[in-house]
Amino acid sequence: ATFLSLSLKDESDTRQLAEDLAAILKPGDLLCLSGDLGAGKSTFSRALIRNMAGDPDLEVPSPTFTLVQPYDLPRLPLAHFDLYRLEEPEEIEELGLEEILEDSAALIEWPEMAKDLLPESALWLQFRHGRDEDTRQVEFYSEDPEWEKRISATLE
Ligand code: ADP
Ligand code: MG
Repeated sequence: ATFLSLSLKDESDTRQLAEDLAAILKPGDLLCLSGDLGAGKSTFSRALIRNMAGDPDLEVPSPTFTLVQPYDLPRLPLAHFDLYRLEEPEEIEELGLEEILEDSAALIEWPEMAKDLLPESALWLQFRHGRDEDTRQVEFYSEDPEWEKRISATLE
């Protein structure tokens, strides 16, 4: 169920949210980033990965063709998925998500391409365009009640 809806007034709010979540990620955490083209999934992912890398200029390519890009980051490894070009949901198993989550965190853009095969422990963030060009709304939901506790302890 949805447990939080946030208004992001501009891109820096999106980056701040990514940094706030970066601080609490641990092995096994999966963030599923939903939203239309341009909603901010990649902007969020880039900010989160750069923050965890401690490098604001790190190249963070969209793994559109490779489908997954692993990062060996100082605090914990993280895998960045983009499932836009997934041909069938079962392909997610070949990409090794389950093994990755044994010791890493993961972000997935276009998660609905493999929706029924993703773990219920995932936190889903639904990004939507707002009224103005730079505003966004993000809704948080998860089947796992732990996320609501962790998120409310982190965001103010
Ligand atoms: P997606 O990966 O969801 O397709 P991107 O992150 O690639 O989206 O693109 C979002 C675009 O919208 C970028 O050009 C970014 O500069 C712009 N933008 C404007 N306001 C925001 C905001 N509040 N959050 C995220 N991106 C924003
Ligand atoms: Mg994208």
